[in-house]
Amino acid sequence: MNKLIAVNSIDDILPEYRQTPIGLLLEYHNLDRPLDTFDKAKLLVGMCMDNRKHLHMPDNFAFIIRSGGANLRYSEFKVSYAIGVGQVSFIALIGHNNCGMVNLISRKNEFIDGLVLKAGWDRERAEEHFMHFAPMFEIGNETDFILSETKRLRLRYPGIMIAPLFYLVEDNKLYFIEES
Ligand SMILES: [Zn+2]
Repeated sequence: MNKLIAVNSIDDILPEYRQTPIGLLLEYHNLDRPLDTFDKAKLLVGMCMDNRKHLHMPDNFAFIIRSGGANLRYSEFKVSYAIGVGQVSFIALIGHNNCGMVNLISRKNEFIDGLVLKAGWDRERAEEHFMHFAPMFEIGNETDFILSETKRLRLRYPGIMIAPLFYLVEDNKLYFIEES
């Protein structure tokens, strides 16, 4: 796994992100900065749909797109909307450990059995569904994926500042993922 950089004080926020909405997010979530009032969004957060995570930040502060693994490849129109219409210039891309999108294939049977049992799907259709979509959503490992997704988004949206972050489910804190 790539190195994580803990943020336990304002000085730990990487200099390029201080005085930006990304630095503010870290102050709110990790450092208990009192919540300010916002009348429009300053930030787009991309994070996993996983239920174990909750961000501590003010109302109106951020657009949030949640998708498996914080994968925004299939949410680009929404990213563009947050930039074009919502006028945000910053994206915090937040991965987390123990992500269900890693080694998705190992959950194939569970996935199919669940759809058959819970949703009333027939087995063949559930299997087809899994085999079609799993390769699109599978990620190799959580931090590598966030770093590569950050690179991709920086090329796609060169005017936007994007930070690769990580949420540890054990302490519920945000970390920077070190970029080489
Ligand atoms: Zn996840």
